[in-house]
Amino acid sequence: MSNEKTEGIIIRLADFSESSKVITWFTRDFGKTASLAKGAKRLKSAFEAAIDLLATCRIVFIRKSSGGLDILTEAQLVNRFRPYPGSLSNLYVGYYIAELLDALTEEYDPHPELFDAAYAVLLELQEHDDFQKALIKFELTMLNEIGQLPQFEYCAGCSQELGQSESYLYDANNGGLYCQHCEQQRHGNVRVSRGTMTVLQKLLDEHTQLSQRLNLSLQQQREIRQLLTTTMSHILGRRPKMAPYLQL
Ligand SMILES: [Zn+2]
Repeated sequence: MSNEKTEGIIIRLADFSESSKVITWFTRDFGKTASLAKGAKRLKSAFEAAIDLLATCRIVFIRKSSGGLDILTEAQLVNRFRPYPGSLSNLYVGYYIAELLDALTEEYDPHPELFDAAYAVLLELQEHDDFQKALIKFELTMLNEIGQLPQFEYCAGCSQELGQSESYLYDANNGGLYCQHCEQQRHGNVRVSRGTMTVLQKLLDEHTQLSQRLNLSLQQQREIRQLLTTTMSHILGRRPKMAPYLQL
């Protein structure tokens, strides 16, 4: 057993007993972990009011060496998730982020960049009702970190450069887009215009700040949403539960 310290986002909460909860965290240093918070349901617990879905906390826990649940010993609130007032969509996007982090990451497999992207999008969801760019950037970071980022430069059929085209056919099953030649004999899920590709490439660039001028048309947002939802569905083997709430 060892004492570990890190920051974590609460991505799932379950009752364990009359007074205790099991908390699933996405932590910066250890990836996903589950810990038992004894007495968390008591009014005056050691964790005060830190235990709340999507809250970010500085935590200390005792790591169990063989199976079993870790034991949470300290949780200090860093940020409580409060979606932008009046925007139900922002709340659902928060749930979607928790769903993806829970379903697509493994226990004790750290991804600090993904933690930072998740924290950034949660703050964005608190401060603005336009969260699209932040959400897309988070999803692209997620796909990149788990090695499932679609190939945007080379054809998924013949591996040649995609070349200039007004639009491209995207095939989630094959993890990429087809050149004009290959798309004649292929099937795809989504059609993505050239402008949308440019936006995706900009959002993928780590130097692109969200505050930068990058206006997404409704058409571009719809194409990207379709591309990302079919990609996530393909990886999960089902449609994300929150996907219907993200439609534009
Ligand atoms: Zn091709």
